[in-house]
Amino acid sequence: MTGAATGLFWHERCFWHDPGAIGVFSAPGEFLQPQPASESPESKRRLKNLLEVSGLIDELAVCKPPPASREDLERFHTTRYLDALAAGDAGRGGDGGDCAPYLPGSLAAARQSAGLAVGAVEAVATGELSQAYALCRPPGHHAEADRGRGFCLLGNIPVAVMRARALGQVGRVAILDWDVHHGNGQQGAFWNTPEVLTVSVHQAGNYPLETGEFAEQGGAAALGTDLNLPLPPGSGIGAYEYAMDTLVLPAIEAFAPELIVVACGYDACAKDPLGKMLLNTAVKAGFDETIMLDPEGYVAEASAANVFLVRDGVLHTPEVTSCLQGITRDSVIRLAREVLGLEVVERRITRDELYIADEAFLTGTAAEILPLRELDGRHIGARSGGAAVGAPIADGSVTARLQSLYRRLVRGELEADLAAFGAWLTPV
Ligand SMILES: [Zn+2]
Repeated sequence: MTGAATGLFWHERCFWHDPGAIGVFSAPGEFLQPQPASESPESKRRLKNLLEVSGLIDELAVCKPPPASREDLERFHTTRYLDALAAGDAGRGGDGGDCAPYLPGSLAAARQSAGLAVGAVEAVATGELSQAYALCRPPGHHAEADRGRGFCLLGNIPVAVMRARALGQVGRVAILDWDVHHGNGQQGAFWNTPEVLTVSVHQAGNYPLETGEFAEQGGAAALGTDLNLPLPPGSGIGAYEYAMDTLVLPAIEAFAPELIVVACGYDACAKDPLGKMLLNTAVKAGFDETIMLDPEGYVAEASAANVFLVRDGVLHTPEVTSCLQGITRDSVIRLAREVLGLEVVERRITRDELYIADEAFLTGTAAEILPLRELDGRHIGARSGGAAVGAPIADGSVTARLQSLYRRLVRGELEADLAAFGAWLTPV
């Protein structure tokens, strides 16, 4: 160690865990074709590589602790489960229980992964480091005492926290889990432990289906030390910040832990295929919104909003193979065609087409029709001598005309040009 305040715990062996092919939610069978597991080493390698090329790794104390011992694992897991895992690992692999497949060699990776958490918790609990990041793989927050679940074989955090508490290194611990899925592993491990607060902020109704409700608040011996905040799908940075500021941080502060452990899965990212949340880094970087691209690099959509651009009087929008169909999107297309007489083209759009568009705007239930003035630091509309950033959109522009039509329509101002659209409105 270099004496740095922040530790990075990682081990190449963790990247060698091979979950093989799976059937998601049910075992592959006669009519369920196996597919590669969506949990892969690639995303974790990218994180490690980013630390390398950015130079940040040089400022961290890089630590490679030993794998978790059987004794450490048995504080949380049952002997029967650990024996079954060892037998499968020595044979042809298997499934830890519920969607936690593994091939031979995975147990060593899983024990190393738990060892990273053990090392990180111990280093911080004993004051050796002020904080630490453990790049654990396989992940651990779904693993239960007697079975693996959701790509997790061993409960990395329960194992590490139970060990530190058993050795008297720490007493009160708060565990915050912001993975997009519920942290059922920690919840179950400390259900009746009043000295450990477990908090989970996750997408409602995602995996595991049967846990993660707000009503789950801890066992009789520890009522109030389990906080679940299931957020609706589509929640973005605003919802997360509100939940953190008004509920999570006050709860942790009131609990007064000596140590905070974060299960920081990053699948609440807007681009993650296993979640439906909309976190991105754009807002943190000073932008108002993010334009997401589809897997092939074409413009898809913004957070809960569709994208349109105007070029030479023609309206263009990504086809629905690249974005979700929106009610406002459909309304705008019909208004443009039927009232303004514009040509509307649904097709693939590249990011640079937005740079050189005459106008661009977003549509959505919340956004309604919102002009897009700037993208990646480039002013949209500059090609045609457009207005300065922040200036009102020009009267007569396609965006302004559609905005006006849409606002009149939702207010029920149905003069002749909009008379045909009265059926869209339901008087209340
Ligand atoms: Zn997850």
